[in-house]
Amino acid sequence: MHAEIISIGDELTSGQRLDTNSQWLSEQLGMLGIRVLFHTTVADDLEANRQAFLLASQRADVVVATGGLGPTADDLTRQALSETTGRPLELDQPSLDHIRNLFRRRQRPMPESNVIQAMFPAGSTPIPNPHGSAPGIELAMDRPERGPAWVFALPGVPAEMKEMWQATVRPRLERLLGPEAQRIRHYRLKCFGVGESDLEQMLPDLIRRGREPQVGITVSHATITLRITASGATDEACRLAMQPTIDTIHQCLGDLVFGEEDEELQHAVVRLLRGSGRTLATAEIVSSGLLSQWLSDAAGAGDTYRGGLVLHDGQALLAAVHEASDAVARHGLDSRELAALLAQQCRHLFQADYGLALGRLPLSDPPREQDKIPLAVAWAGGVATDWAPYGGHPHIRRTRCTKHALDFLRQHLLRR
Ligand code: ATP
Repeated sequence: MHAEIISIGDELTSGQRLDTNSQWLSEQLGMLGIRVLFHTTVADDLEANRQAFLLASQRADVVVATGGLGPTADDLTRQALSETTGRPLELDQPSLDHIRNLFRRRQRPMPESNVIQAMFPAGSTPIPNPHGSAPGIELAMDRPERGPAWVFALPGVPAEMKEMWQATVRPRLERLLGPEAQRIRHYRLKCFGVGESDLEQMLPDLIRRGREPQVGITVSHATITLRITASGATDEACRLAMQPTIDTIHQCLGDLVFGEEDEELQHAVVRLLRGSGRTLATAEIVSSGLLSQWLSDAAGAGDTYRGGLVLHDGQALLAAVHEASDAVARHGLDSRELAALLAQQCRHLFQADYGLALGRLPLSDPPREQDKIPLAVAWAGGVATDWAPYGGHPHIRRTRCTKHALDFLRQHLLRR
């Protein structure tokens, strides 16, 4: 069974709003084992809507549409469905009662234009919308020499759409699929520390098309995600099918894997610190406080992350950090020695077990091949330093070197 998603609205086609409904629905359909072959985005235009529904019903067995169910003249979904199928719109009294009740509860008179939201193409089924005035529409579109295409039209408001999907559309699709249907589940492992192609070579035969379970690789701001996809009759069966692949990945990549699902490097660092009951402070120059922001968010309440110095320029550094002028005079602003001093001083200042410092970003723009940033980790027994590479697209330079700093600390915590 294949699906198509239709997103309706001028604000989507004009670029004013991002179509997040399609993304969410695709994941949901995928979990039911229904592959989405097409995303269509269409403006508030009756003829364009008619064409979109006609085409979708020919090339997909399940069509999920969102938007265009409101009471105004530019809401055309019900009319498009009525004209595409040749079924006249009929009043559904229970839907009208629900809409009237909704207005009564809000102590507002119901405008006459809202009656249209209780009109449905003949033979279709209303999909209840407990918290909104636009019920959805379920409709079987006949196709010559094939079974019908199942169309589900839902409101565009994401919260209403999701609620109606969970309560009505998903159970309905599960019934249509039958008890033998295969579920599809994904699991993501997150890695950092090597390039995408180097990592791929470390996983012989795993990232091969047609392999079961399938392993996909994507990279975002130097974090590599391995997405494992398996199908099975239940969640448990999917998980069992994935496990040998997950084990192989851990064996091949070792500490390059830092987490799973939505975890980022800062979560891995906080987890390791919490595990050993240790605390952390940071110091960073000209990185917009990314280290501090990420760690504060990941650590939440509690004192695992004690705080950080965010220094905007060299002058701030000299004013805030004891003995900084000596280190700068002797080794320079972009030295590992200065990063080491920063790591030690922020550790003392915040009375933390570890200090992590990210040095000054290079001033050359565009960066040169050899540009790199000093890093340092300080602890009671000493200090270790390294360099983070600096380059690539301007959009990712800052996040990438901040991740290098976090990964430097993570590797240090793992070894101790
Ligand atoms: P309403 O009863 O609110 O008019 P509707 O079915 O007519 O419902 P639209 O008017 O098309 O829906 O959209 C309502 C709101 O839902 C939009 O202003 C927008 O905020 C949001 N929305 C619509 N479509 C999408 C989408 N594809 N992705 C994310 N948000 C969307």
